Amino acid sequence: MDLADSATEAAFRAEARVFLEGNIHLAPSDLADPAGEWEQGLAARKQWQRVLYDNGWAAITWPAHHGGRGLGPVEQIIWNQECVRARAPSSISIVGIGMAGPALIEHGTDDQRERYLSKILSGEEIWCQLFSEPDAGSDLASVTTRAERDGDGWVVNGQKVWSSGAHFSQRAILLARTDATVPKHKGLTFFVLDMQSPGVTVRPLRQMNGGAHFNEVFLDQVRIPDTCLVGEPGEGWRVATTTLLHERMTLGGSLGLFHMEDLIDLARKHQPLPAHVRDLVARAYTYERCLEYLNARIMSKLSAGEIPTAEGSITKLAVTRMLSTAADSALAILGSSSLTEPGPWIDLFLVNPGIRIGGGTDNIQKNMAAERVLGLPREADESRELPFNQVRHS
Ligand SMILES: Cc1cc2nc3c(=O)[nH]c(=O)nc-3n(C[C@H](O)[C@H](O)[C@H](O)COP(=O)(O)OP(=O)(O)OC[C@H]3O[C@@H](n4cnc5c(N)ncnc54)[C@H](O)[C@@H]3O)c2cc1C
Repeated sequence: MDLADSATEAAFRAEARVFLEGNIHLAPSDLADPAGEWEQGLAARKQWQRVLYDNGWAAITWPAHHGGRGLGPVEQIIWNQECVRARAPSSISIVGIGMAGPALIEHGTDDQRERYLSKILSGEEIWCQLFSEPDAGSDLASVTTRAERDGDGWVVNGQKVWSSGAHFSQRAILLARTDATVPKHKGLTFFVLDMQSPGVTVRPLRQMNGGAHFNEVFLDQVRIPDTCLVGEPGEGWRVATTTLLHERMTLGGSLGLFHMEDLIDLARKHQPLPAHVRDLVARAYTYERCLEYLNARIMSKLSAGEIPTAEGSITKLAVTRMLSTAADSALAILGSSSLTEPGPWIDLFLVNPGIRIGGGTDNIQKNMAAERVLGLPREADESRELPFNQVRHS
């Protein structure tokens, strides 16, 4: 494993750092936004996206002719690390830049790329992801939202849930079932949905930290024109897989939700600490160092042209462990009053269970590690080969 940046990686890191140091004053200061109130400061976040776009930093891995920087995943990780270091806000366009854009670049038409890509990059249009449903999350291929052919378009009916940012998004990537007579992965189709279409109802869900980050989305006789189909009917799983790979990459880092130096400062200010609290802080620090080496391992593999697989799962497990240990440490240092008063540490404590679920739950990451690292047999799934309409649903 090579821990050091190569000469070109070091030059890219230096360029990113200079840009961020020179422009961070233009970014909104409610940095990690742990309370999940994405609508707060929306205009400021869009403005920051515009700054990134104007300076060529909006999409590191998109090809240059589509407005990206044309670089690889290693540079993406370096950029993410530098954003965390500079305490830059998380992107308002995560779904657009990390998922919708790559799907359109790989599977869309020239018209779709022309119509959507630059508005995604500039932050003019915000996108959300309408994949999960009340009975389709970890087993995403079980979605039951139906899209039926109707003239030169489609009519969609169903319900989505946990749709982050749907309440302020202009467009969505949507996964719907167009054929129930074939096995579950084969009958899905991928659409672009205009969120202002008649029949789309967005209902925000209130979280335990008081925020309303995600929503239920009801689709009632929603018409989608053929021009909004991405890939062919029945190819939705293949298109969605492009977006999920990017989602895993986006979620692998520390998400800017936490800075170890803040925890160490807090611990120093509250000396002397009881042994069990010192132990917690030391554990959080150890997880953070492990995470650094896991990231280095991923970057080393990517630099060698290999695709990391189980490393992504193990990294996500390490991230959530580090965040929960850090939050536990801070709350133990601050005492019971920190549980009732608003503040960054209680926010981190309350937001972390969601991070353990989103982008693939802890259990699903463990399944992947079991299969890909330990070589255990793949989990049996009898519904995989059956026509979807013959699968028993609970
Ligand atoms: C913060 C956050 C943001 C999100 N944003 C979006 C979004 O923008 N768009 C979107 O479409 N979705 C989004 N989601 C939904 C997310 O993708 C799902 O919550 C996730 O995939 C889990 O699905 P589920 O909630 O249906 O749980 P289920 O899949 O029903 O799982 C329930 C429990 O069973 C366990 N389990 C399930 N299957 C297995 C298995 N095979 N082996 C072992 N254990 C298993 C799980 O680990 C979990 O503990 C978001 C979720 C969160 C928390």
